[in-house]
Parts: sequence; structure tokens; C-alpha cells
Amino acid sequence: MNNSSPVTEASKPAFSLCVYCGSRTGTQPEFAAMAALVGTWIGRHGGQLVYGGGRNGLMGILADAALAAGARVIGVIPKALVEKEWAHTGCTELHVVENMHERKRIMAEHADAFLALPGGIGTLEEFFEVWTWRQLGYHDKPVGLLNMGGYYDSLLAFLESSVKDGFMNDWLMGLIRTGSEAEPLLETLVQAAGMTPVATRLDQI
Ligand code: AMP
Repeated sequence: MNNSSPVTEASKPAFSLCVYCGSRTGTQPEFAAMAALVGTWIGRHGGQLVYGGGRNGLMGILADAALAAGARVIGVIPKALVEKEWAHTGCTELHVVENMHERKRIMAEHADAFLALPGGIGTLEEFFEVWTWRQLGYHDKPVGLLNMGGYYDSLLAFLESSVKDGFMNDWLMGLIRTGSEAEPLLETLVQAAGMTPVATRLDQI
């Protein structure tokens, strides 16, 4: 499904960010506000959002905010999840694919960088996959983890303990960028991808 005219050189997004996040909203209202802020930031900086294509949870909030802020939004959803995750027909492009592997491949191909927001096992799986792919040299795109409100503190502590125990190393940890604030982390990721966000400040929205 395609709700847009073809991308030309002039209309090409300044960057394309793949965002993984919960198909639920979580219990704290701050999570929803953060997802909306990320979507708005992408739109207001001339970016394109690539995500899982659903309307549920933080995923839907993120996509709605990005669309409202003028972003191109590419949603990629397996056909088996079209109803379960309430496929977002408002996406600029909605790709309904055969399976989860195709979903992840298409999402990765369309992205200049990856960012995981708070989420559940789906989010974690996607985050770990792009991180391990980076470790193996399958891609060289920046990977970020938004540790909002300390949501990922215990995960990061575990990963550090894995370094201490010799199953990982500092180089591997250095492949991910983490931060508790959305805006600086978004800027870091986009710049690390060699792209330039269009300069519009969030406080001018
Ligand atoms: P969750 O973080 O569990 O709420 O899921 C967020 C998104 O990840 C949803 O769109 C799920 O369909 C997706 N997801 C669930 N399992 C997987 C998986 N094994 N690989 C990739 N994505 C997944």
C-alpha cells in the first residue's frame, strides 16, 4: 500500500531512522510522551521513520506523531500480524510481507540508523539482532538504545557484567549508543550515520 507520490531527489528525506518500540504503551504516561516526541523530532528534522507498521502501543503513537510532523513513514508488517497489531493504513508506505524475517530485512535495508525505545521481547529481539549484525560486520549503521527513565538500567548492568565475565568486551559495548534523553541521542545517531538533520528546534513546534 502506498499513500505517497514517488520520492524524488528534492523530496528525499534527510535521513531514515528505524525505530523499534513496544506494541504496548507501558504503564507510565511518560513512555507515550517520549514516543510522540521521537516521532515529532523525526518529522520536524526532515526524516523518514521506518517501523513495524502497527497502530498498537508506542508503535502507533510514534507513527502518528511522525506523520503529523510531516515525516515519511514506512511501516513493514507480516501479513499474520495485520489484524493483531492493527496495521497502520495511514503510513506513507505500508509493506505487508510474508514473515518476520522479511519484515526485519526490509526495515534494516531502509534505515540509515536504528533506535530502540522501551518495549518488550519483540523490541529487544530487534535491537539485539541489529547490534549483533553490526558486530559481525553485516552493516555499519549506528545502533542506539533510549534508556528513558532508567528503563534499560538493569539490562545495561547485565551487559556490563557480561563484559566483566569475559563474554563481551568494551569494543562491543562501544558499538551501541545509549542515552536517557531522546533528542541528543537522535542527533548523535543521525550524525553518526553521516546524515544531517534539517535544523528545526522542537521548542518551535
Ligand atoms: P514488543 O516489544 O514485544 O511489544 O514488540 C514490538 C514489535 O516487535 C511488534 O511489532 C512485534 O511484532 C515485533 N516482534 C515480536 N517478536 C519479534 C521477533 N522475533 N523479531 C522481530 N520482531 C518481533
